Amino acid sequence: MDLRLAAAEPTAAERAAVDAVLDGAVPAAAGPDLQHAAAGGRIEVGGARARRGRRHLLLPALHGVQDAIGWISPAALNYVSRRLDVPPAEAYGVATFYALLATEERPPRVAHVCDDIVCRGAGAAAIGRGLEQRLGGGAHAGPGAGWMTSPCLGLCERAPAVLLQLAGDQDRVIAPATAEAVHAALTGGVGSAGGPSATPPPGRAGASAPQTARPAAAAELTLLRRIGAAAPDSIDDYRRHGGYAALRRALELGPEGVLRELRDSRLLGRGGAAFPAAAKWEAVAQAAARPHYVVGNADESEPGTFKDRVLMEQDPFAVIEALTIAGFVTGAAQGYLYVRGEYPLATARLQGAIAAARARGLLGGDVLGAGVAFDIDLRRGAGAYICGEETALFNSLEGFRGEPRSKPPYPTEAGLFGKPTVVNNVETLVNLLPIVLAGGRAYAARGTEQSTGTKLFCLSGAVAAPGVYEVEFGVTLRQLLDLAGGATGGPPRAVLLGGAAGSFVGPEHLNVPLTFEGTRAIGATLGSGVVMPFPPGTDFADVVRRIARFFRDESCGQCVPCRVGTVRQEEALARLSRDGDAGGRERALLTDLARVMGDASICALGHTAAGALQSALALGLLGQEE
Ligand code: SF4
Repeated sequence: MDLRLAAAEPTAAERAAVDAVLDGAVPAAAGPDLQHAAAGGRIEVGGARARRGRRHLLLPALHGVQDAIGWISPAALNYVSRRLDVPPAEAYGVATFYALLATEERPPRVAHVCDDIVCRGAGAAAIGRGLEQRLGGGAHAGPGAGWMTSPCLGLCERAPAVLLQLAGDQDRVIAPATAEAVHAALTGGVGSAGGPSATPPPGRAGASAPQTARPAAAAELTLLRRIGAAAPDSIDDYRRHGGYAALRRALELGPEGVLRELRDSRLLGRGGAAFPAAAKWEAVAQAAARPHYVVGNADESEPGTFKDRVLMEQDPFAVIEALTIAGFVTGAAQGYLYVRGEYPLATARLQGAIAAARARGLLGGDVLGAGVAFDIDLRRGAGAYICGEETALFNSLEGFRGEPRSKPPYPTEAGLFGKPTVVNNVETLVNLLPIVLAGGRAYAARGTEQSTGTKLFCLSGAVAAPGVYEVEFGVTLRQLLDLAGGATGGPPRAVLLGGAAGSFVGPEHLNVPLTFEGTRAIGATLGSGVVMPFPPGTDFADVVRRIARFFRDESCGQCVPCRVGTVRQEEALARLSRDGDAGGRERALLTDLARVMGDASICALGHTAAGALQSALALGLLGQEE
């Protein structure tokens, strides 16, 4: 490689930050064909093979610099490029792809103030004004601290929320936040903001899963049954509450037996696409190409969604156990967990769980003495919604920009590192435990014919007790709202189902059964389980403009319909809000844009970017459209 960004040399601190990540790292992720060449932290093969073998360390190395220094200077980027043999232009392209990585100098302490749908209704603007008075405007306000706005931080049940990125210290969140608390955390000494979450982790009576605080309701729970009951940082407590019984059972059943139970369960993926889980697993288990990989998609970034965060923070061993079973069944010795960069507490809990499982022989070369090899590498995302798309996630893991790939080939044929890969959302994975333990048929006895089992829903916005709720498929929207104490501010004028990529439904649909088929029948979607009611008097134009801005910002820009369409959509919406639409011109344009993005975009972001807006227009929520 003969390209260099500049002659600038890294500081000792920058060099140390990169070395701390890369020294001792082996290229195991590139597959066993390269593992033999790793010795003493060095790769003994050269050229393209070596580059492929080390490229997956690019994002961790950039994180290392960002975490330690607070931004990635050209000299630091140059050093990362040199050590990984990645062209600097490509490393720059990756570094600038992610919102949590800064390639321009900024203060070492930065607050990301969520101004997404729920937080803007809960006082986010006041936090921004308060910080502007104290610090000046923007992330570069400096010298010691700055702030910026952020898309949804996945803390909607405790809005308004703020993420603190603190150079040389752990990132952490404050939720609910005030300008005073954020300012104190930014300007106080190291540790003044507490642990990764300044809000005490919820217990039995905690806010994140209010259902678990009621014994009668808690007795019915499956996926949330340990939340608040078992200490999330204790493997012994996890085992006392039934942990690792599913892995033992899976080892007894063998891969074929587990696949049979999974087929019988008719489990559909919970990430939004509702794809049959057994079909993916069988395809990878039977694939001739080796090695196989399993990936836990924990990049939960859909606005309004926080269920996976609650599982990871409060029941992290369940995620690890389920991924281990996935590896055993599909013949993968290596698993990855790709955790949203904005989730510092979940990351810390999962890292602790992985270490504890290794120490007890529940991960490693001989899991439970059964001759099964499986281990997990946790990777942090860095602030990019699109990395929740499975192929974008692969690219991010491999050290490239998180841009979706065209499909086919599908991940089960050519996924991570071009190998057969199962990728499942966290909630999907955790469903595996009751399926293995109780059997697929018993699991499928709950819910409906086409939507089996239970589902986690994220209730936030105008609802009395926001949080994560677990109900059997088939419960109606009205019943779910009642479970959460009912809608506040009057009967809802509309409910957003499925998040920003979902759609609004009107009060006439409060009796819709919450199933995949039930929501499909009314032209809506369960998506990631978001249920967000809005009272009469809501400024829906503001809500929809925020959604449009979200998609404009998060479009990866790879394909024209989405890159241009999301911008034009936001512009047309702004004109419609400002000037009205007497001739129907803007509405016609928005409909055209929705069709083009839906038909011609590469991935689901483009396909769904107009959904909420179109449903708001159809329900007459914007007022100015006629
Ligand atoms: Fe990127 Fe949007 Fe195209 Fe998806 S649809 S690949 S996010 S530009």
